[in-house]
This record gives sequence, structure tokens and C-alpha cells, in this order.
Amino acid sequence: MNTALEGVETAPFTPETSPLEVITWALETYPDIAMPSAFNLNGVVLLDLAARAGYRGKVLFVDTGYHFPETLQTRDALAQRYPQLEFKTLNANLPDTAQYLEDVDGCCAVRKVGPLNDYLEQSGPSALLNARSREQASTRAEIPFVETGKRTRINPLAHWTREMLEAYALEHDLPVNPLYWDGFLSVGCWPCTRAVRPGEDARAGRWAGKGKVECGLWVGEKAV
Ligand code: SF4
Repeated sequence: MNTALEGVETAPFTPETSPLEVITWALETYPDIAMPSAFNLNGVVLLDLAARAGYRGKVLFVDTGYHFPETLQTRDALAQRYPQLEFKTLNANLPDTAQYLEDVDGCCAVRKVGPLNDYLEQSGPSALLNARSREQASTRAEIPFVETGKRTRINPLAHWTREMLEAYALEHDLPVNPLYWDGFLSVGCWPCTRAVRPGEDARAGRWAGKGKVECGLWVGEKAV
């Protein structure tokens, strides 16, 4: 199956369109839209913007069993701050094994991509709100506001820089994962995440030295 995603030329946006305008358009166009999130800086900013735009739907978090305690605390703080949203944690229910050490692609497939794909197949939202931005990594440098594929993905933060995201989070006193301020610019599972070094892009600390840059949720044959 070809799961390549392409930008939608008809979406009424320019690079200067604000994330709030994109979200407002998405909520009107896709009333059943859902929002997967790992509660990184981008995700926390998107969540706040979506709530301000009137989003009242699901926030889907996949618990791989290997998250940092700080990430789970961030999820809980957000759930408390936004009671109008429906926070849902998905779990692969797998035993704690050392599988990730041998096969990171396989581990992500069963612990992360599989649970979200299964849930989306059952619950069937037509579109997803997604927090990726172009500046995060070279693999994301061309992300459009709207992608089509197995499901439509709306990327309201596509053109925001890290400085803009940080400024927004600080201005609105958002509960950012405390690891972020220690250099974990993208926080995933603890066995596969390290702090970013000066000059590296935001996702350089994910699967460092393992020849992997994306978990498979957004690219590849099994992408949601
Ligand atoms: Fe497994 Fe690492 Fe992927 Fe987490 S990030 S699901 S531990 S391979």
C-alpha cells in the first residue's frame, strides 16, 4: 500500500497563516479529528492552541512502558489543566523485555505504532492534529499544513521555530516536560533518548547511534 503523504494544494493557507487559523479550519472541516501526542514542547503548545480554538476531542498518548516519569507527570498535569479534553492512554500491554536493544524498529512497531493504529482503526477519526514542525529534523523539513494519506494530518505548527514554541510556552506558563529544559529537546522512551548537544537538531537525541530517526508513526508503510 502506498502511504506516501502529499500536501493538499487546495487548503487555504500560506506559510504565514497562524497555527490558530489552521486549527480553526481543521475543526470545522474534520469535526471528528483526534490528536495523538507525546507531550513534547510542540505537543504541549499545539494542545493549548487547540483548546483555545475550541477543540474538545481526544488526546491520544501511547504508553510504551518505557516513558520517563517526567513525561507521565506532564501528561497528568495537562489532563488536569484541560478537563474539557478527553485524555486517553493506549498501551501495548507487553511485558518489559530487552527487545528494544536488539530491534528498535520492531520495538517501536509493537509498542508505539501498533497500539495507535489499532485504536484509530476501531475509533475511525478522519483526520489527526499533529504537532510536528519543519525545524525539528531534516526528515521534517517539507511538512505542509495538510497531508493526505491513510488519514488526513493537519500540522498547524509546521512553520513555527523552536524559539517561537518556547516563547509561546513561557508566555502561557504551559507545563512543559521538565526534561526539555535539561536538553532533551525531543523526549521519547528512556532507553532511546539522550539530551541534544549544541548545534544538533531537536531530534538528534532520539535513537542516537542506532540508524533511526523516526518511530514510524508518521513515515513508512505502517504510518498512521
Ligand atoms: Fe521501543 Fe525505543 Fe521505540 Fe520506545 S522508542 S518503543 S523503547 S524502540
